[in-house]
Amino acid sequence: MRRPYKIFLLARRTANGIQNHMNIEKIKIGILGATGIVGQRLVQLLEHHPWFEIGFLAASEKSAGKTYQEACNWKLASPMPALFREMIVEKIGEPPRRQEKLVFSSLDASIATEVEDAFARAGHAVISNSSAYRMHEDVPLLIPEINADHMALLETQKKNRNGFIITNPNCSATALALALAPLDQQFGIEAVFVTTAQAVSGAGYPGIASLDVLGNVLPFIPNEEEKIERETKKIFGKISDGLVVSHPMKLSAQSTRVPVIDAHTEMVSVKLKRTARPEEVRELFLRYRCKYSGHDLPSAPAKPVIVRDEADRPQPRLDAEAARGMATVVGRIRKCPVFDVKFVLVGHNTIRGAAGAAILNAELLKAEGYLA
Ligand code: NAP
Repeated sequence: MRRPYKIFLLARRTANGIQNHMNIEKIKIGILGATGIVGQRLVQLLEHHPWFEIGFLAASEKSAGKTYQEACNWKLASPMPALFREMIVEKIGEPPRRQEKLVFSSLDASIATEVEDAFARAGHAVISNSSAYRMHEDVPLLIPEINADHMALLETQKKNRNGFIITNPNCSATALALALAPLDQQFGIEAVFVTTAQAVSGAGYPGIASLDVLGNVLPFIPNEEEKIERETKKIFGKISDGLVVSHPMKLSAQSTRVPVIDAHTEMVSVKLKRTARPEEVRELFLRYRCKYSGHDLPSAPAKPVIVRDEADRPQPRLDAEAARGMATVVGRIRKCPVFDVKFVLVGHNTIRGAAGAAILNAELLKAEGYLA
């Protein structure tokens, strides 16, 4: 399944005359938490990556010493890449002694605090999916389309650690932020109300018991609403005196878990500083592009926001894979009788909300020279 993607990617780049990634020497990377739901996505997305190649896979003691196929309960529709089936899963050593400078972490938050810090102090660049360091003042909560300038925090961080930690936001916050970005740029955002309907893969594996979620809606996801509220404000924050000052928008989130396998759906109402009609908002979404600080990043979506005009879209089953899962898909853009405008969005939680976001962040770091 990945080979057609690679051919497409190379063809697209060369046809545009931008850059041919084929001859670039690859950077070896490691994955911490390689056996989990996000770890599996990382393995899948990195199999044919033009810049990075997997050097080691690590997980808990229960998995260490086993082959990847023995240790991992593979949950993706495409088969486990043959290259990694026999790779031995490593124990996360203390202190870390690996050569690979770049490390992706998809560890359970319970151990990420200790392990990610240990890797950063040992000189690694840690790209984390976990919530452990997202709100730390010297850690960027990075979305290349929105806040590439937050990488300036790394200068402070490198004084405290040998290496550094960079994080991607909560999966719901990422999908929401991509849709809010053009609105904030053009009109300014005053307030947001968002209600999420989140997929079960967001809870990892084995995650939630089927008896709890099938035919049901669970109205509580621990810590999720708080993460969406505070992380979105940090994502849109401005750098001042070497720190991020969070965006002053008011944001209220309600989160639910629904019996959907992949992709979160979010119902969003936005109050703008300068009011806009739904048609203007639709036009803005359609026109929205990102230059990625002038870099040609292999995982960047051509359009970070995709508009569906059908009355019954977006839907997780139909729209999660749009732009290889790297875009937010919006629809039902209409007037809000309380705020200014409301719409529905869908974002892939394990791709743009996790593994794909981490890889895009690593690509930006490499392009900006942070991995030299
Ligand atoms: P998961 O399926 O439960 O996987 C957890 C991973 O952590 C597994 O590889 C597990 O290894 C490893 N692990 C657990 N305890 C460990 C220990 N003591 N030492 C070493 N490794 C240990 O969870 P997930 O859904 O992939 O999520 C991973 C991280 O990404 C979490 O922090 C989560 O909040 C975040 N995240 C997830 C999503 C999503 O949509 N799922 C989205 C954004 C962010 P074993 O298999 O050996 O136990």
